[in-house]
Amino acid sequence: MDKVYLTVDLGGTRIRAARCRADGAIEARTEQFTRAEEGANAVVERIAESLREVWPAKGKVMSIGVVAPGPVDPFTGVIFLAPNIPGFVNLPLRDWLQAIFKVPVIIGNDANLAGLAEWRYGAARGHSHVVYLTVSTGIGGGVIMGGHLLVGSRGLAGELGHVKVDYHGSPCQCGSVGCIEAIASGTGLVRQVREHLTAGEKSQVTDIVSGNLDAINVEAIACAAEQGDTLANTVLDDSFYALGMAVVSFLHSYNPSIVVIGGGVSNLGERMFKPVRDTVSRHVMDPAYVCPIVPAQLSGDVGLLGALALALDPPPQSKN
Ligand SMILES: [Zn+2]
Repeated sequence: MDKVYLTVDLGGTRIRAARCRADGAIEARTEQFTRAEEGANAVVERIAESLREVWPAKGKVMSIGVVAPGPVDPFTGVIFLAPNIPGFVNLPLRDWLQAIFKVPVIIGNDANLAGLAEWRYGAARGHSHVVYLTVSTGIGGGVIMGGHLLVGSRGLAGELGHVKVDYHGSPCQCGSVGCIEAIASGTGLVRQVREHLTAGEKSQVTDIVSGNLDAINVEAIACAAEQGDTLANTVLDDSFYALGMAVVSFLHSYNPSIVVIGGGVSNLGERMFKPVRDTVSRHVMDPAYVCPIVPAQLSGDVGLLGALALALDPPPQSKN
């Protein structure tokens, strides 16, 4: 009998679901708006509806993998908090879905599972020790060690965006200070440029956004930097130096054989990767730590494939 896996990518805006094979082939997919404002029960019903739409007419559903947009307890399948979905606080999504569909359900957080997807189907295929970073609005991470996702004692491991690189630094969304996310994420880059401009410094960024500082985004900063703008280049250089320093700490902590970086900021390409690689080669304590630092390969389906990778290889169900 054909074995298939169902996957759900739960986002603040959209719910995607798919029917997949173990090799990553997607046989069927569906998508609808999350409509988070209608509350948790309505969202869970829409997840169930999406799963019914991709349920196979024949064949056996082995398990269901779910990507959640926030921290999850992988041992209980409880979503602690989904910042973009009101009411998703301590929500026992795994048990609710298992009660409906009578197959195993495994839930993980989005950045962890993007790392898992890149390891099984993307840029880190063939590696057993992987550090994955998504540098986007925030910075998230996923660590694969010995071919398994590192989840930690309470499922909270891999929050690589909140490694401290500057203890005198700017406040971070997490409530602390000096996290790499507060510096090198898209939000961090924009904040720094805006602060310099508000303090009266001159930059082509101001012209690119027609004087509207609220319209500054990473593309505008990159565009100014490309034209030789000093302020834009200084912010990018400093921030990617900091990102490189964070990667040095990840290399020392985990000794991966590859580092994969995805997310919107990584679309700057070599403007980001080169300073990160240069910093790494200057600051590792031994050249043996140096490994390839490469762009992510998966784009729109990374969530669905991450959920599939999790469904195929659930973390051990033990906290100790
Ligand atoms: Zn933080």
